[in-house]
Amino acid sequence: MINNLPVKTLEHKGLTIEGYSRAAVQTYWRIPELKIGFDLGAQPWSFMGTPTWFVSHTHMDHVVALPVYVARRRMMKMDPPTIYLPEAAVEPVERILRLFSRLDRGRLPCSLVAMQAGDEIELSRELVVTVSATAHSVPSLGFVVWERRRKLKPELQGLSGDEIRDLRLGGTQVTDEARIPRVAYLGDSCPEGLDDCPAMYQADVLIMELTFVAPSHRKERIHKFGHMHMDDLLERRERFSNELIIAAHFSTRYHPRQIRYHVEKALPDMLDGRLHLWI
Ligand SMILES: [Zn+2]
Ligand SMILES: [Zn+2]
Repeated sequence: MINNLPVKTLEHKGLTIEGYSRAAVQTYWRIPELKIGFDLGAQPWSFMGTPTWFVSHTHMDHVVALPVYVARRRMMKMDPPTIYLPEAAVEPVERILRLFSRLDRGRLPCSLVAMQAGDEIELSRELVVTVSATAHSVPSLGFVVWERRRKLKPELQGLSGDEIRDLRLGGTQVTDEARIPRVAYLGDSCPEGLDDCPAMYQADVLIMELTFVAPSHRKERIHKFGHMHMDDLLERRERFSNELIIAAHFSTRYHPRQIRYHVEKALPDMLDGRLHLWI
């Protein structure tokens, strides 16, 4: 086991959330059970097996490890990964990969897929990712991972198994699709990134940035940089119906002790214990 980077881990209802995120340092997350990851600001050796990644935006601390990740997968004879990127990033990243290929004298096989707000990406029969706009200083996107289940149509609820089977064999659609938002990921964003995507507030697990927590950092100024402030969270406290809210991406100006102090002072109940500080 090679330990090249910090990784924090938390389990919630069958999902393992792994990652690390500090503003301007590095951000990377993955959920092994869903076989996906968010952002490639660095790449822990143990994350290499995750084949599909979503890059929220192209600030270096969210994307700079992309070539390293692709190269490791090739070296370890794994299938080329699929990496979803904001549309404007695809061509520059292709060029960067070509240049690194030349410097490293090695191929960098991967599939880079452009995405934009409103897209729906089918990962499997059970999983769909929806893409939403966030508000940052460069083009940036947020994601909701939905679990799809087939549910018997309500009007057929009283029928026996045999009757339902006959209907189905006769070509009648007997089920509807039910979607459950399991995980939402807000990359770097002002509060609009949450407000404009109600599913962010409903997902079982929300991973969100909370770059600034001190009252001395005014939220109006913070919004100019495209980030969230503790006050934004407070103003919206009634809206979060998530089971778990992970706050991360804290500014390097704060010591972990200060982060805990400011958040617990503003929100003594930690959103009924659902708020988890990723420090
Ligand atoms: Zn960032
Ligand atoms: Zn950023």
